[in-house]
Amino acid sequence: GRKFFVGGNWKCNGTNEEIKKIVSTLNDRQVPSSDVVEVVISPPYVFLPLVKSLLHPDFHVAVQNCWVKKGGAFTGEISAEMLKNLDIHWVILGHSERRLLLGESNEFVGEKVAYALSQGLKVIACVGETLEQRESGATMDVVAAQTKAIADRISDWTNVVVAYEPVWAIGTGKVATPAQAQEVHFALRKWLQTNVSAQVAESTRIIYGGSVNGANCKELAAQPDVDGFLVGGASLKAEFLDIIKSAT
Ligand code: 13P
Repeated sequence: GRKFFVGGNWKCNGTNEEIKKIVSTLNDRQVPSSDVVEVVISPPYVFLPLVKSLLHPDFHVAVQNCWVKKGGAFTGEISAEMLKNLDIHWVILGHSERRLLLGESNEFVGEKVAYALSQGLKVIACVGETLEQRESGATMDVVAAQTKAIADRISDWTNVVVAYEPVWAIGTGKVATPAQAQEVHFALRKWLQTNVSAQVAESTRIIYGGSVNGANCKELAAQPDVDGFLVGGASLKAEFLDIIKSAT
């Protein structure tokens, strides 16, 4: 089976004090064991050493982006090599905020995923359509093109988690209905089956992101093709624990 996966994406938020508090809440471990649910939190880069030093080893740390190839003269970037050096195992790539606000193309995201995997990192690869694309009926075409740009460049999906994050649901309080999420997750899994392999389709976790909270997580988690969540706003609050508990 696919182990339930809950990611907390703190985006560009947090202070030293807030982060110590969140980590200490997690460290109390009033949540199902790491055999049942994989929990990965993603603080801004500057807080990585702090979080790494405090966080219980049942939980893992992800960064929110990394450079597309080997480090060097790339001002402002962080390389996969550095993350390995810091013993960070996960990276979020292709978040819609980066695709849309920073102009990251499908191809660029695909290259980033391939390079990060080649360096031994595990990747949370984000895909998802805008409201306009959904309303014009293009959801699956958009998500398939984003996934294809990754599939064209990698052969081993073992270390990939796909996050379906409809842009219209991110930070809006407008969560996808369980049926809407299930429909796209199912279609994505079918896409993987047809275009990659039945084994990859069966074993790759497809998680949902977009206004997930303590109240709506249970029904979403009950969908057969929803294998967990990527949580933004609610991952900074105590209800993140309820979202982790939706694994069981
Ligand atoms: P919200 O949970 O704040 O809608 O953000 C979702 C997200 O973008 C996680 O990566």
